[in-house]
Amino acid sequence: MAKIYDDSNVFARILRGEIPCKRVYETEHALAFHDIDPQTPTHVLVIPKGAYIDMDDFTAKASEAEIAGLFRAVGEVARMVGADGPGYRILSNCGEAAHQEVPHLHIHLFAGRDLGRMIG
Ligand code: AMP
Repeated sequence: MAKIYDDSNVFARILRGEIPCKRVYETEHALAFHDIDPQTPTHVLVIPKGAYIDMDDFTAKASEAEIAGLFRAVGEVARMVGADGPGYRILSNCGEAAHQEVPHLHIHLFAGRDLGRMIG
């Protein structure tokens, strides 16, 4: 069954300027801001400006420019926050089994400490 984007989600509201965020970086296609409940010393979310629910929806429907724009933004943010030297982790929860809370695609960027081994 096709998933329907719900534009009342918190990241859609941030994109419309209805609620504030701690902005890190912005381009035509992407917005990056600090997570409100950081799990690591640096925890930034990078989101596409288009209305995409998750990675599945994005890779099925977004243009090449939007896809390139989002991933370029992730790399740019990593360099900006100095995460590219010691290393960082990117992660995107997709759907119920992954416990995705906000139904607008977001890529978490974790950095600022040893992140340990990723298991499952
Ligand atoms: P996920 O479980 O992958 O959907 O992650 C959602 C993330 O959004 C969590 O890490 C939340 O802390 C974060 N979050 C929720 N509301 C806000 C907000 N208003 N500003 C920034 N981050 C938020």
